[in-house]
Amino acid sequence: MDTLFIAGAWRPARDSGTRTIHCPADGSEVVTVAEATADDARDAVAAARAAFDRGPWPSTPAPERAALLRRVADRLVAERDEVARLESLDTGKRFVESQIDVDDIESVFRHFADVAAADAGRVVDTGMPDVSSRVVHEPVGVCSLITPWNYPLLQTSWKVAPCLAAGNTFVLKPSELTPSTAIWLMRALAEEGLPDGVANLVLGAGATAGAPLVDDAGVDLVSFTGGLQTGRAIMATAAATVKRVALELGGKNPNVVFADADLPAAIDNALTAVFLDSGQVCSAGARLIVEASVHDQVVDTLVERARDIRLGGPFDDEAETGPLISEAHRSKVERYVADALEDGAELRCGGARPEGAAYDAGFYYLPTILDHCATDMRCVQEESFGPVLTVETFEGADRDAAEDAAISLANDTIYGLAGAVWSENAGRAERVASRLRHGTIWINDYHPYVAGAEWGGFKQSGIGRELGLTGLEEYREPKHVWHNTRPAPAGWFADRRRDSAGGTDQ
Ligand code: NAD
Repeated sequence: MDTLFIAGAWRPARDSGTRTIHCPADGSEVVTVAEATADDARDAVAAARAAFDRGPWPSTPAPERAALLRRVADRLVAERDEVARLESLDTGKRFVESQIDVDDIESVFRHFADVAAADAGRVVDTGMPDVSSRVVHEPVGVCSLITPWNYPLLQTSWKVAPCLAAGNTFVLKPSELTPSTAIWLMRALAEEGLPDGVANLVLGAGATAGAPLVDDAGVDLVSFTGGLQTGRAIMATAAATVKRVALELGGKNPNVVFADADLPAAIDNALTAVFLDSGQVCSAGARLIVEASVHDQVVDTLVERARDIRLGGPFDDEAETGPLISEAHRSKVERYVADALEDGAELRCGGARPEGAAYDAGFYYLPTILDHCATDMRCVQEESFGPVLTVETFEGADRDAAEDAAISLANDTIYGLAGAVWSENAGRAERVASRLRHGTIWINDYHPYVAGAEWGGFKQSGIGRELGLTGLEEYREPKHVWHNTRPAPAGWFADRRRDSAGGTDQ
């Protein structure tokens, strides 16, 4: 299986190991790929190091680098359905969702092409007529890009596009569960003319193929998206060689609904917030925080609607959401719901696998609503990453007390990735938004994003930002160049050598 891409060549794993990917929707075989060893990963780092230290890419002019990104974007348009098909087969998500993901990925490549080509650094006024000073952007070096399975190519594009735009070389390790679109991307980059060794791909388990990408001294930056525990371990390992670290970790995201919200819109979006892609979204609105006076109206409607959600495979036109990624992940979600019930949460719907032969071979789990949750319950504090909504309520004697109560609940989490506030009172919505300690806040909306705006987490949701302008900065080192055009002795230390010779020859 020649699916590792190292130094411009496709090759198998050194020990010929392979892994077969099955579609989570029905267990059907999708593809068999190479399973890299640690030595394969080190080969890939060495290739990226050589391409950075001796290859043309870091000094290729930014407009040329941008042109390559635009050609990849064009390919995404031309091959949209094929890329979406690969993504849906690996993840089990709806084909139409994967198509939307491909459109997003295209916009990410175009965004970073635009910002990289537009920004050549800046001139600093030194106040000295003979001295010019400029700050230029240099690439960081060799980057390890490690990505999760929920949005395989989208999360990858948030790293690959700025990484290349800035002139770096990289080793990509996608989730071992979803390799197909990463293979597509490597082919596209090579065919569009990226020099050998700039983009390298290793496939395989985190502990084997991923770990060397973090501890190897040849790597300058690790950009990781995934779970909190993995992120902590990566940060600790990277400290030994003081690598730059960018982390996009989990979230436990509050969706705050005030009684003065447009309730039909808030309720409908609360469903999308948590049940889109069966909750396997880092920014999923998994915590509904609702004002007590509308609790029954909101939650009763949500329960009714959640019971009607249609589950099915990627190419089932009737399906509204799909399976979980694996048996292990579904078991985790089931344990999480069982613990919540033990802790006193009230199960309003779901809490089980769907019945019917159509679901037997996939990893389906019903949309689940847990009512009357307390903020200190594990189900409120920890990420289930499944179709599970917890409900907390708040109230206050007056306007300020209600807002304080909502904010206090919404910020009571170690995470800080995203959240939403629903209110028709614009002043209230802005006041609450400004006090929520989360990296993205939606007002009267949930989930949309644009490539031009930063994405990332406060607190333990991560370090750094992707997208926007900051998403490019992560991949650049600022370098200050000071140029004295009229060199002269500094004159700080007296030249006693000339004094002792009894004079000067000037
Ligand atoms: P994960 O942490 O299990 O794995 C992520 C990646 O890290 C995979 O490629 C895995 O193989 C690799 N990995 C695992 N151990 C490693 C190690 N020791 N060294 C190097 N690499 C290692 O996460 P996951 O289950 O694939 O993804 C789900 C998680 O990702 C959720 O917590 C979700 O919130 C998070 N996520 C966050 C964002 C965001 O933007 N903040 C986006 C998507 C997903």
